[in-house]
Amino acid sequence: MGKVLIIGAGGVGTVVVNKIAQNPNVFTEIMLASRTKSKCDKIAADIKNRFGVEVKTAQVDADDVSELVNLLDGFKPELLVNVALPYQDLTIMDACLEAGVNYLDTANYEPKDEAHFEYSWQWAYKERFEKAGLTAILGCGFDPGVTSIYTAYAAKHHFDEIQYLDIVDCNAGDHHKAFATNFNPEINIREVTQRGKYWENGEWVDTEPHQIHKALNYPEVGPKESYVIYHEELESLVKNYPTIKRARFWMTFGQEYLTHLRVIQNIGMARIDEVEYNGVKIVPIQFLKAVLPDPGELGENYTGQTSIGCRIKGLKDGVEKTYYVYNNCSHEAAYKETGAQGVSYTTGVPAMIGAMMFFKGLWRKPGVYNVEEFNPDPFMEQLNIQGLPWHELFNVDLEL
Ligand code: NDP
Repeated sequence: MGKVLIIGAGGVGTVVVNKIAQNPNVFTEIMLASRTKSKCDKIAADIKNRFGVEVKTAQVDADDVSELVNLLDGFKPELLVNVALPYQDLTIMDACLEAGVNYLDTANYEPKDEAHFEYSWQWAYKERFEKAGLTAILGCGFDPGVTSIYTAYAAKHHFDEIQYLDIVDCNAGDHHKAFATNFNPEINIREVTQRGKYWENGEWVDTEPHQIHKALNYPEVGPKESYVIYHEELESLVKNYPTIKRARFWMTFGQEYLTHLRVIQNIGMARIDEVEYNGVKIVPIQFLKAVLPDPGELGENYTGQTSIGCRIKGLKDGVEKTYYVYNNCSHEAAYKETGAQGVSYTTGVPAMIGAMMFFKGLWRKPGVYNVEEFNPDPFMEQLNIQGLPWHELFNVDLEL
C-alpha cells in the first residue's frame, strides 16, 4: 500500500528513510530524491546492506516545480515527505497539487531573502488541497510536531482548558566541536538570532533576541539556562487552542554557543543578502554553512541527550492542574541505530510516524492541517514503539 517519496538527503532524511525501511508492513515502495544524488545513493546502499530493503534514488531540484512534477509523474507516490529545506515547501506543495500527491513536512515555509517564517503561506493552500481531495500535514517533526501532538493529547485527556503552555527544548548533548549547529546551519542560525516573541492575553509580545531567560530543570539532565525564542508551532497552537493565555517556547543554549553566534553576527557572517567577493556573488550565511561542521556528520562522537517536552497548566473539572510530558533521546543510541545524531533522529522519527498515520488512513482528510488537528492517540502509541518514548508528570512545579 505505502508508496512514498522522500525529498532531502540530509540528517533528517537519513533518519526518515531508516525508520521507513524498518516498517515494511506500512511502506512498500520507497524513493529518496535530493539535489545531490550521490547522498541518496549512499543512504540507499546502507539501507540495502542493513535491512535488505530497496530504496530507489533520483536527482531533483526542488525549487523547480516542473522537475518535481516529472519526478512525481514517473514514480507516482501516494505521499511525498518533504525533509529538504523550508525554502522548498511551496514549490513542493505546488508540484503535489499538479501531480495529485499528498504532502507532509517538518518545517514551515521561509522565503530565502527574508529571515521570517509563518504559516500563512502554507495555510493559503487549504482550499486547493481540499478541492483536489489531497491531504497536507504540516510540521511533523519534534518541534513543531511531537510538541504539538503532546498539546493535543493533553487537551484530549488531561484538561478541559489549557491556559499556560511552555514548550521546553533542551539539548544537553556534546558533539565535541567548538561550534556546530544540530541541523542545517543556515536555517538554524536564522531561527535563533531573530527577535523573541511569545503569546500573552490574546497578542504577541515582542522581545530582544534572548532577552528572557532562566535556568530550568530537565529530567535526567538537571538545570540548564533556557531562552525564550519564537518558534513556529506557537502560531498554530494558540489558534487551535484559544483558551491559552500564555504560550512560550524555551530553548537551551550554552555560553560558548551564544558567544560564537554573537561573533558570527557582529562580523557579518549571518547576513542573508548577497555580497560581492572576487567578482562572485555570495551569501555570507551560505558560505558559512560550507565551512561549518556538517550536522549530518556530528553523530559519531555525540554524547549526552536531548530533553524536549510541554509544561502545561490549566483546568480539569474546575481544579487547577499541572502536567509535564517529555521525551529524552540519547545521541549515542540514535547514532547507533541510524548513523545520525539525536536532533535528526527526534525530527525524522515523527516524520515517519506521520507518514504511517497517513497510510493507515488515520490522518487523512482533504485540506492543509497542522498535526494537532489530527487524533493524537495512535501517534502517541507509535512514539513509544518507534524509539521516542514519552513520560508524564502530574501536578509538579513547572518552574514557570
Ligand atoms: P540538511 O541541510 O542536512 O539536509 C537538507 C537536504 O535537502 C540536503 O540533502 C539538501 O541537498 C536537500 N536540498 C536542499 N535544497 C534542495 C533543493 N533545492 N532541491 C532538492 N534538495 C534540496 O538539513 P536537515 O536534514 O538537518 O533538515 C531537514 C529539514 O528538517 C529542514 O527543513 C529543517 O528545518 C527541518 N527540521 C525540523 C525540525 C523539527 O523538529 N520540526 C528539527 C530539525 C530540522 P544537498 O545535500 O545537495 O545540500
